[in-house]
Amino acid sequence: MEHTKRYQLPEEEIPRQWYNIQAEMPNKPMPLLNPATREPMRPEDLYPVFAEELCRQELNQTDAWIDIPEEVREKYKFYRSTPLVRAYGLEKALGTPAHIYFKNESVSPMGSHKLNSAIPQAYYCKQEGVENVTTETGAGQWGASLAYAASMFGLNAAVYQVKISYEQKPYRKSIMQVFGAQVTPSPSMSTRAGKDIITRDPNHQGSLGTAISEAIELAQTTPHCKYTLGSVLSHVTLHQTVIGLEAEKQMAMAGEYPDIVIACFGGGSNFGGLAFPFMRHNFTGERNTRFIAAEPDSCPKLTRGVFRYDFGDETGYTPLLPMFTLGHNFKPANIHAGGLRYHGAGVIVSQLIKDGYMEGMDIPQLESFEAGTLFARTEGIIPAPESCHAIAATIREAKKCIETGEEKVILFNLSGHGLIDMASYDKFIAGDLQNYTLTDEAIRKNLES
Ligand SMILES: *Cc1c(COP(=O)(O)O)cnc(C)c1O
Repeated sequence: MEHTKRYQLPEEEIPRQWYNIQAEMPNKPMPLLNPATREPMRPEDLYPVFAEELCRQELNQTDAWIDIPEEVREKYKFYRSTPLVRAYGLEKALGTPAHIYFKNESVSPMGSHKLNSAIPQAYYCKQEGVENVTTETGAGQWGASLAYAASMFGLNAAVYQVKISYEQKPYRKSIMQVFGAQVTPSPSMSTRAGKDIITRDPNHQGSLGTAISEAIELAQTTPHCKYTLGSVLSHVTLHQTVIGLEAEKQMAMAGEYPDIVIACFGGGSNFGGLAFPFMRHNFTGERNTRFIAAEPDSCPKLTRGVFRYDFGDETGYTPLLPMFTLGHNFKPANIHAGGLRYHGAGVIVSQLIKDGYMEGMDIPQLESFEAGTLFARTEGIIPAPESCHAIAATIREAKKCIETGEEKVILFNLSGHGLIDMASYDKFIAGDLQNYTLTDEAIRKNLES
């Protein structure tokens, strides 16, 4: 019998609405707070920083379905739908009875899922008369996606890139520049926040936290300029639900439904994007899927962080967010999965963890690259270092099925390819990578500081 490898949806099946899980969560996320007054933020309070429609989406807890503008769907057609793939090669290499599927977001022109939110964010900015957009980027995936989307809609983009990544991943900067963006390593001397950070620590390697501070400051001091964020916030995850909505239809084509859904976790957007459309069936009791967010063990906010109000950035420019956090001044080790080096989790995911709808799983750096290498050799795609975490978690679960003999259906997100991250693979092959497992003491000290 011939086996289907890839499940493809025709263009007209690209979703017409995003799924807003906030409307259907049994316990809604707690409000974002104004740090000065401790009052809950209203959409209007966020207008100075983000496009207004994005502010309304951020705090929308009533509409479960939000229309995708036709212009956004037109741009999605450049690369969507993305394939759902059965990982027969990986299954065979592991000798597992599990059925492993992955949603391949690496086929986007920028190589990751980030474009799914960059396109609507640039679109709403353009609609509202904004001319300039700023942002931060870690590995450069978000910066590249925003640069691409900004160029599609005729906006200028200024990107602060985490210094360590700027140095480790030079080609991402080139990609951003091809699309006309201005790229600055962070911390930099171009903002007050950057100057303060460099004064305190001249050797600061940068983090998403420092870059966010700089990008927000630039947006607030430049006319007709808005800030955009590629993860963490609820509107970003909303846009990413195109992943899970497509996957749901594609799993049905395969005649299966996932027992376990897995994605890597930085701020939660690719995880939520894949997981939330499936999770809605857990809320109604119709399904009992397990949801696993794979995070680096050097940045374990989901499993070892605390739930409390904290800032989203290093300097404290953002509202206070109710989230699992390692402390906003946490400095993650210089692991190669740049997109996972963030101290906190989004407010939706944080509430879902509290309520037991999902769990975190910590993956050491070496295990992630071992998993990514096996995946490349069996499925023919070199995964992004971030995505390697999801693959490692998938392999752990698939190996459990060998012991129990269960034919579990596992679905994971291939959030991006690693073809621009080969410097990281070089280090892995040369034996120059290490693990950075944290002690309880180190975590506690940071939280108390
Ligand atoms: C940015 C990024 C991530 C992490 O971000 P989330 O918001 O947690 O999804 C994961 N994988 C890739 C390839 C990325 O670029």
